[in-house]
Amino acid sequence: MYKCYHCGEKVEIQKLERVVCPRCGFRIFYKVRQPVVRKVKAI
Ligand SMILES: [Zn+2]
Repeated sequence: MYKCYHCGEKVEIQKLERVVCPRCGFRIFYKVRQPVVRKVKAI
């Protein structure tokens, strides 16, 4: 999952070539880390 650097639109990118943000047309993206789900043991 990537986010547009300009507007923050989430974009799923398979190939990083010729990818344009569907909302604003920006071409720079940054990777979004999936939040790690931690399981907490209930004692
Ligand atoms: Zn954008």
